[in-house]
Amino acid sequence: MQFNERGYSNPVIDTDKCIGCTKCAKICPVINTKYENSPEPECYAVMASDEIRTNSSSGGMFTLAAENILDKGGYVCGAAYTDNFKVEHIIISDKSELQRMRGSKYTQSLLGNIFKDIKSLLDDGKTVLFSGCPCQVAGLQSFLGKNYDDLYTLDLVCHGAPPQTVLYKYLDEYYGRDNLADFRFRTKEFGYNSFHQTAYLKNGEKVSGNICFDPYEKAMHSGLTLMDVCADCMFASAPRQGDISIGDFWGISNYDQALNDNLGTSVVLINNQKGKQLFDEISQNTKLVSEVPFSFACANNRFGRKMDIPVRGRRWFYEMIKGNSFEKSVYYSVNRHFDIGIIGLWYGRNYAVWLLILRCIRC
Ligand SMILES: Cc1cc2nc3c(=O)[nH]c(=O)nc-3n(C[C@H](O)[C@H](O)[C@H](O)COP(=O)(O)OP(=O)(O)OC[C@H]3O[C@@H](n4cnc5c(N)ncnc54)[C@H](O)[C@@H]3O)c2cc1C
Repeated sequence: MQFNERGYSNPVIDTDKCIGCTKCAKICPVINTKYENSPEPECYAVMASDEIRTNSSSGGMFTLAAENILDKGGYVCGAAYTDNFKVEHIIISDKSELQRMRGSKYTQSLLGNIFKDIKSLLDDGKTVLFSGCPCQVAGLQSFLGKNYDDLYTLDLVCHGAPPQTVLYKYLDEYYGRDNLADFRFRTKEFGYNSFHQTAYLKNGEKVSGNICFDPYEKAMHSGLTLMDVCADCMFASAPRQGDISIGDFWGISNYDQALNDNLGTSVVLINNQKGKQLFDEISQNTKLVSEVPFSFACANNRFGRKMDIPVRGRRWFYEMIKGNSFEKSVYYSVNRHFDIGIIGLWYGRNYAVWLLILRCIRC
C-alpha cells in the first residue's frame, strides 16, 4: 500500500517483483465483489445504556457488540488513534482499551498487516469481532478466502473517508497536534442532535465547535476530500458486507419521536444468521430495541452506491491546500470563490486582449 499524491492509501504493484500470478486481482473485493447477505435485512433502532452512548458517536451499538465478544474471551479489531493522531486498526482483548476504538474518526483508517494478525487468531481458534468500513470488511473476507465460524463482522454505514494528510493539516492549523490530548468528532455535551466535535488540549482546555461551521466537516460532507471509489461504492447498498451493519439512525424522530432521546440512536441491520445470533444475545442488555422498516432507514442515510462528488471543486481543493490555509482552501473550493476574476467585455470590439481583471472584493 502506498500513499498517492492526495494522501489516500492505495494498493500499488511493484512491477520489478511481480510474477504475474494475478492473485491480487483474484482477491480484490472491488474486482470480484461478493454479495452473500440478505438484500432486505431486518432493521432496528438501538439505544445502549446512557453511559455507553455518551461516549459513542451514535447509539453505542459497537460497544454492545465489542463487550459481548470480549466477555467471551475474544478479540476486537477496530480503528483507534495511535501515534500523533494517526488512525489505524488495532486489536484488543481487554475492555479497558475499548475507549480507544469508540467514536468515529472521519479519515481513512490504515490496516497495515492487521488481516494477517486476524487470520492467526482465527487459525488459533480465537473469536474475533472486526469492525470497519464496508470496503474493509469486504477486504478482510476476501483475504481470508473462507468463512470462519468465530469471525464476526460489523460494517459501518459510510459516507466516505478523507485521507489522513488532510486531517493532520486541519488539526495542525487549528490546534497543533503536539498540543492535543484527544480529538473527538462526535461529542454530545450539547446532545446528539447538536452536532459538535471537541478538541481536548494537553493544557486541560476543551474547545468545542459546531460541525456545521467546521471546515473539515464541510469538506468531507460536501465530498471535497473523498475518493472516487467512495462516490461509487460497491458496498454501500444491501446486500451489505458485514454480519451486522451499524450507523446513525438519521430521521428516526419522523418515524417515532420516542426513538430519539437526544443521546444517540443506532441503525442496525441484521444481514445474516450469524448477525442475528449475535444481535439476539446483545439485545438482552440493551436499553431500547425497536424494529423499523428498512425502507425508512434507506430514505434517510447512505445506502446507495452512487454519491455526487464536486470533481472540479475537489481538484481545486487539493491544489489550494498545497499553499494556503485549510480554511481558505475549503471556503474557496466549496463556494467557487477566486481571488481574481477574468471577464470579457462582450459589447466592445473583440481584440482578444480586452479582458478585465478584477480583485474579488469578498476575499
Ligand atoms: C468515515 C466514516 C463515515 C461514516 N459515515 C456515516 C454515514 O454517512 N451515515 C451513518 O449513519 N454513519 C456513518 N458513520 C458511522 C457512524 O459515525 C458511527 O461510527 C457508527 O454509527 C457507530 O457508532 P456507535 O455509537 O455504535 O459506536 P462508536 O463507538 O462511535 O463506533 C466506533 C466504531 O467505528 C469504528 N471506526 C471509527 N473510525 C473509523 C474509521 N476511520 N474507519 C473505520 N472504522 C472506524 C471503530 O472501529 C468502532 O468500531 C461513518 C463512520 C466513519 C468512520
